Amino acid sequence: MRTQVAIIGGGPSGLLLSQLLHRKGIDSVVLERQTRDYVLSRIRAGVLEWGMVELLREAGVGQRMDAEGIIHEGTLLAAQNRTIRINFRKLTGKAVMIYGQTEITHDLYDARDAMGGVVIHEAEGVTPHGLDSDAPHVTYVKDGTEHRIDCDFVAGCDGFHGVSRKSIPSSVLKEFERVYPFGWLGVLSETPPADDELIYAIHERGFALCSMRRADLSRHYVQVPLTDRVEDWSDDAFWAELKRRIPEHAAQRLVTGPSIEKSIAPLRSFVAEPMRWGRLFLVGDAAHIVPPTGAKGLNLAASDVHYLYNGLLAHYQDGTPEGLDDYSRKALLRVWKAERFSWSMTNMMHRFPDQGDFGQRMQESELDYLEHSTAAQTALAENYVGLPY
Ligand SMILES: Cc1cc2nc3c(=O)[nH]c(=O)nc-3n(C[C@H](O)[C@H](O)[C@H](O)COP(=O)(O)OP(=O)(O)OC[C@H]3O[C@@H](n4cnc5c(N)ncnc54)[C@H](O)[C@@H]3O)c2cc1C
Repeated sequence: MRTQVAIIGGGPSGLLLSQLLHRKGIDSVVLERQTRDYVLSRIRAGVLEWGMVELLREAGVGQRMDAEGIIHEGTLLAAQNRTIRINFRKLTGKAVMIYGQTEITHDLYDARDAMGGVVIHEAEGVTPHGLDSDAPHVTYVKDGTEHRIDCDFVAGCDGFHGVSRKSIPSSVLKEFERVYPFGWLGVLSETPPADDELIYAIHERGFALCSMRRADLSRHYVQVPLTDRVEDWSDDAFWAELKRRIPEHAAQRLVTGPSIEKSIAPLRSFVAEPMRWGRLFLVGDAAHIVPPTGAKGLNLAASDVHYLYNGLLAHYQDGTPEGLDDYSRKALLRVWKAERFSWSMTNMMHRFPDQGDFGQRMQESELDYLEHSTAAQTALAENYVGLPY
């Protein structure tokens, strides 16, 4: 088989890139290790920056998002029954969209089907070859038979555990990492959200977040030690702990119900540089991970797709190499700023085992500063709604 761009990974970045390219007549094949049902069952992100909203519209998959997504013009930060509202619209003129990653993936699959896009599921042993040559190819095994795809470029959209990043020689690749000493226990439930907006709650027992996916679907989290297991947490224990950490008025209003998904995600900051090697481009979680506190993971994947898509477009339509040559530098500039924001939100809001009294006073002062400074609120809002592409 021959294609212009071989895309490894059929998560949001791989599907979005193939959809955008197809609409401009650029051919791609997506190779996904899992089944479609498995990919669609993953419950992950839900807060979209406006840049991502516009990119999804540009890809022709914005219709259901625009009909069913919920626009949020602010968010709430709470500590000890004191609540600070960060007014995104007033401070930045922008907002964010609440629309689940699962729904985006659904919409992208539907769009790929409608256009006859090629997505090969259950592709085993996907391996890129000749990435530092002018003629790369990718091999994989499907139903026991090995296949080969010749291509111009390979897009590594295969997440943190994928094969693409590992294909870059260790003498070239530099990795930066911070692992946090806690995780987030997340519960998805068919209950109304605790509030019209997200509540980020800082508490001496640990951080909590009241988030949502729809008006009848809520996503809540509590910070837990890394030693906790999902089986340790009954639904009742989860709701009781959440209520202790969020402001009283929200706890009183909170509607609880059975969990339909419950998982613990460890928190990590990670960046791999460079994001291009030869004819391979790393995109999304394949190149970087953020702790979910700033809601940046999926949004960063979208901005990478934006830069790569435009680079490929310039290459194929105008024969200009600058966009592709500059991909890694441009993407990393934005990645590091989102890493900084996610790291600082995580530091401000979580209880660290070794933070001591000094660390606690630092957190309290930061919150107090935020409460009384429009400049500090603007900085938070500007990063939360997303820095420009
Ligand atoms: C538990 C969890 C919760 C999260 N919560 C949030 C959140 O609240 N907010 C937020 O902004 N972000 C969140 N994220 C991050 C966000 O979901 C990711 O940033 C986003 O999914 C990145 O998209 P991606 O397409 O780059 O990678 P992925 O979604 O990881 O997709 C990669 C795809 O590649 C496939 N693949 C892997 N290896 C291979 C291979 N060798 N061959 C072929 N295919 C392969 C995988 O099966 C997968 O389908 C969360 C992530 C996790 C894990």
